[in-house]
Amino acid sequence: MKRLAGYIPNPRFTDLFPETSGNTVNGLGETEVRRASPFFWHPADKHDFGALQHEVIAYHRNSPEICEVFNPKAPRGPKPVERAKTRVEKPAADWAQEIKNFVLGDEGDLVGITAMDPMYTYEGYEIAHPWIIMIGVTMDYGELSKAPPSFEDPSAGVEVGRQYNRAARVCRRLANFILEQGWDAKAWPGPYASALNMIPAAIAAGLGELGKHGSMINRIHGSAFRLSAVTTDMPLIADKPDDIGVDDFCANCRICSEACPPQAIFDEKQMVRGVKKWYVDFDKCIPYFGETLACGICIARCPWSRPGTGPRLADKLARRRARKADEQNR
Ligand code: SF4
Ligand code: SF4
Repeated sequence: MKRLAGYIPNPRFTDLFPETSGNTVNGLGETEVRRASPFFWHPADKHDFGALQHEVIAYHRNSPEICEVFNPKAPRGPKPVERAKTRVEKPAADWAQEIKNFVLGDEGDLVGITAMDPMYTYEGYEIAHPWIIMIGVTMDYGELSKAPPSFEDPSAGVEVGRQYNRAARVCRRLANFILEQGWDAKAWPGPYASALNMIPAAIAAGLGELGKHGSMINRIHGSAFRLSAVTTDMPLIADKPDDIGVDDFCANCRICSEACPPQAIFDEKQMVRGVKKWYVDFDKCIPYFGETLACGICIARCPWSRPGTGPRLADKLARRRARKADEQNR
């Protein structure tokens, strides 16, 4: 997919932009560290982008296939059960292993645990639980590679909905399993946002690193996965972030930034809420995201997403680092 020369955003969406830029809400250029603000995928009364959000969703609902998969009646897992009155006590390491076995034995493909940090909740929200269990479910690359979805072929968008539904089922079943052990738990399914800011928590839990395209890159599945989570007071043990070397790789790769039709992906890291990181220009991305039924070109074109490529790249980067370390130690 080449950039669309002279791409002009659809006024259907741009006319609904409020005065404030989405990048201002996101804290682009801010040097002080702060929590992320509620934004586009949060309930419309939490931000100024409600009209735009409604229009994008209403437009996408013109596709019967998208409607069917992003539907409250879609299979998204059980309702919460009552917490058992008696608590099952086990060492944290045993629970952590049991939780991982549960997720991977259910419909989950990735799982990691991290301790709660106030930075993992959006401004104006609190989560009392001390632990976050991050869950990843992989996307079918054959479907993802058909991005961007359109009314003629919505396959890639349908695959997004299908996997969010799977992620919802896993997190809801896991939360119920924890409740049945007498511990508190809350499931956090996507794609709509709530209190939990999932990407930083998923990075801390070892599910991957942030790529230039603003999505995560996992060492095996690249960006072809979706997230859900469970927070809990069950005693657990935190995993470590996975330092794959994505930062160095992205610094020398321009596949996503060149493929992005509205040129929304910055080629250099930006200062965002006090941290230098990869960043996607919201104001440029969202109109194209709207008119293509959720775009996804950047994650589909990312070489890490191609089946079998991630492990090869990760190995290569690890070997390169080892070589450099050897040279420095000589
Ligand atoms: S999802 Fe946004 S950032 Fe990614 S390619 Fe599409 S328009 Fe660009
Ligand atoms: S396409 Fe290249 S630059 Fe973009 S996220 Fe993937 S590896 Fe990084």
